[in-house]
Amino acid sequence: MSYENIDDNEQSLGCKDRQLAAKDAEIKQFRAALESMCKQFAFWGSPGLWTGGLSALEQAFDALGWDETHPSPELVCSEEGCNERVTCSTPATDGYRLTCSKHVPKETDGE
Ligand SMILES: [Zn+2]
Repeated sequence: MSYENIDDNEQSLGCKDRQLAAKDAEIKQFRAALESMCKQFAFWGSPGLWTGGLSALEQAFDALGWDETHPSPELVCSEEGCNERVTCSTPATDGYRLTCSKHVPKETDGE
């Protein structure tokens, strides 16, 4: 199919599709930035994130569709039974061990 045969309507749809795709990519970028900011600055209420009553965080949680105390298992200390927030990343044989400051491994693997 030659592009010369595409009628105006199809060209218009193609243009709108590209505009929608660009907007979609932009929204995904904004959402990722907002999630990252919330994960960095929201308060820890074991085991999840909460706004602490700060209006900026409340607005961000609303925009993301997050409930107050947003579950965040990826931010929970890897020590069995501990619900503290990850604050330390220690090299291990299989990557990194993510723990709270209380459960930082005493020695790294291989030493
Ligand atoms: Zn811990």
